[in-house]
Amino acid sequence: MGLGLMEGHTSTSNNRINDRGKPHRRKPVLSEADLSSALNCPACGKVFAGTKRRYHLERHLITHTGERPFPCPHCPYRANVRENLARHVRHRHPDTVVTPEETGTLDA
Ligand SMILES: [Zn+2]
Ligand SMILES: [Zn+2]
Repeated sequence: MGLGLMEGHTSTSNNRINDRGKPHRRKPVLSEADLSSALNCPACGKVFAGTKRRYHLERHLITHTGERPFPCPHCPYRANVRENLARHVRHRHPDTVVTPEETGTLDA
């Protein structure tokens, strides 16, 4: 799933020697620049980095607050994100889906 975390920073001029011995291949972890601007989820500590980190964090926070601002019009189900509601309607109320364009094109 593309989370946009691959920034491809290769110019680490001041990288400290963390692993003594031969420098084995860097794991695809966040660079220090990314970490300095990364956002942490205050609830679970999940790190969000990248250009859309705030967007991802805000979406993620909803999973903690339990806020479900997208009620299903056909049953008491409420979704925390619109994509989930669209998926719910498509799976649970397939007969009601007349215009798939309106519920988004995101497939499960
Ligand atoms: Zn969290
Ligand atoms: Zn429903």
